[in-house]
Amino acid sequence: MRYEETEVGICKECGCTLTTPCIDQKFGSCWWMDKNQNLCSHCFYGLNMEEVDV
Ligand SMILES: [Zn+2]
Ligand SMILES: [Zn+2]
Repeated sequence: MRYEETEVGICKECGCTLTTPCIDQKFGSCWWMDKNQNLCSHCFYGLNMEEVDV
C-alpha cells in the first residue's frame, strides 16, 4: 500500500488553505469536507463554479 502524495490542508480543486480560504458572500469562508483536508466546502458544493448574479 502506498499513500497518495497529497498535501494535507490544501484543497485539490482550488488550492485554498486555512490561511487563504475561499470567501463566499453568502457562506463566508470555506471549511474542510474531509479528514485529509483536500476538498473544501466551496468546491464540494460547487460554489467556486457558480457565477452568482447580484
Ligand atoms: Zn476548494
Ligand atoms: Zn476553499
